Amino acid sequence: MRERLNTAPFGYLCITNQGVITELNETFCNMIGYTFEELLDTHIESVMSVSNKLLFHTYFYPFLHLNGHVEEMYLSLKDHEGKDVPLLLNAKYFKQDDVEGVDCVFMKMGKRIDYEQQIRSAKKHAEEALREKNLALDKLELLHNEIEKKQIQLMKLNTKLEKLSVTDSLTGLKNRRFFMERLKEHIALFQKNNMPFSLLILDLDFFKKVNDTWGHLIGDHVLIKLAEVLNSTFKVEDIVARFGGEEFVVLLPEANKERSKEKAEELRRTVQSAEWRIDQIITVSIGVATMQNGDSDMTIMENADLALYASKENGRNRVTHKDDL
Ligand code: GH3
Ligand code: MG
Ligand code: MG
Repeated sequence: MRERLNTAPFGYLCITNQGVITELNETFCNMIGYTFEELLDTHIESVMSVSNKLLFHTYFYPFLHLNGHVEEMYLSLKDHEGKDVPLLLNAKYFKQDDVEGVDCVFMKMGKRIDYEQQIRSAKKHAEEALREKNLALDKLELLHNEIEKKQIQLMKLNTKLEKLSVTDSLTGLKNRRFFMERLKEHIALFQKNNMPFSLLILDLDFFKKVNDTWGHLIGDHVLIKLAEVLNSTFKVEDIVARFGGEEFVVLLPEANKERSKEKAEELRRTVQSAEWRIDQIITVSIGVATMQNGDSDMTIMENADLALYASKENGRNRVTHKDDL
């Protein structure tokens, strides 16, 4: 038993209450690289660094006196070359017959420290990765906000473009493209629900003369003013558009022949009596057609155009309905 203790897989030593080494095994000697003779009868503190001595005095002795034992105390002893040897210490006070002292068992801590270091370094890496992840997330959020902003800008731009694509730039009225689309929709409604509607095509009389006499800019002004007259004469449900040049079109939903003629006549009179700020009477000729079974967008436009032609032929400044031809 005594022999086995000498080479047991832990360092053993016995110290007096004052810390003098009275017994020790070979394993302990090997742990810190001293011979048996070098350590026996020396003070345990002779193989301690200053900080460990302090620890011994402030923790080890007081705890031992209080509880009779110390468990899992971590400390370093100095080896022969002065290098720290990390150890784990369990100690127990004993008194047998007249002999008393402290039994100390030491375990080397090298592996545990390695593990601890590995854990610490893994923790550090994990923290760094987390920090990087958070930074990346912040960046992503910024990008996301940026994209959202751009999307809103794009939507606004699209709305603007959409509006521009159906608007006549000179008069601000809807353009021919928009009008033709609405016309097709109304034809589809007519075919489905028999909802009547009528179409007006109007053309300024002798407009070339306006340009020739007063200049193109005044001509433009007349077109803009005519757009205002159109807007004030018709309701929002009516579809007013510049068809091209000095020709305009109006779609009157739910208007039959009589109603459409009335509205066209009202417009003709308003144009004639409006203040144009030039010394020339401005008038329009109007052609009207009412949707009939079998009509398409082309035929109803042709019909209104024929009626317009008749208004021109018959002296201008007048309204003609296709059905009266
Ligand atoms: P009519 O009574 O037969 O319609 O005679 P008109 O002179 O009005 O017809 P014509 O087709 O001979 O001339 C139309 C003129 O409209 C010619 C063109 O310069 C002018 N015009 C077309 N678009 C614009 C425009 O945007 N601005 C101006 N100022 N003039 C335009
Ligand atoms: Mg014309
Ligand atoms: Mg004209």
